[in-house]
Amino acid sequence: MSMQNVPESINLSESARNCAIYTGDLSLVGSERLRGLAECGQVQVEIHCGYADNDVEQISVECHAVAHVVCQRCMQPMEFPIDRTSTFRLVTSEEATNVLPVDVEAIEIDEDGYISLRDLLEDEIILALPLVARHEPEACAQKIDRVAKEASRPNPFAALAALSTSKGE
Ligand SMILES: [Zn+2]
Repeated sequence: MSMQNVPESINLSESARNCAIYTGDLSLVGSERLRGLAECGQVQVEIHCGYADNDVEQISVECHAVAHVVCQRCMQPMEFPIDRTSTFRLVTSEEATNVLPVDVEAIEIDEDGYISLRDLLEDEIILALPLVARHEPEACAQKIDRVAKEASRPNPFAALAALSTSKGE
C-alpha cells in the first residue's frame, strides 16, 4: 500500500460525483477519543465514494490497523488486528436514518458539505475493539487453570458494580 496520506475530511458531494477513491494512511496517533482504549498509530484505509441506488451519496470504508491494547488477564500489552469494512450513506433527517438497510450506517455532512474521515475512522476502530481484550490462553503471561477459566466468564453483576462505581466518581 502506498504511503500517501488520506485527507482528514472530504467534501461528500464532490467526492461522490468524482467517484473518488482515497487509499493510504491516516494517522490516529494521539487521538483523544482512543485514549485509554487503544493506541492505533497509522490506519490503512481505502475509501470509495459514489451513490446508492437512490442517488444518495454513499461511501465504503475499509480500514486495517493494529491496535495496541492491554490484556485484561495479565495486564501486559497485546496487539489486536483490526480489519473492518463499513458502508455509510448520507442522511438528512431522522426519517431517512430509519429506512437505511441494516448494513449501512448513517453519516451527516457539516454546513460546508464535509465529513470528517478522522472521526469516522475513530468510530470504526472503537467499534472493532474487543469489549475485554485478552491474549489467547497459550500466549498469556497469566497462566489459567480450568477453575480460573470458569471465573473469567463475563459476570453481569461485576459489570453493574463497575457501572455504579464509575457513576460515583
Ligand atoms: Zn495476557
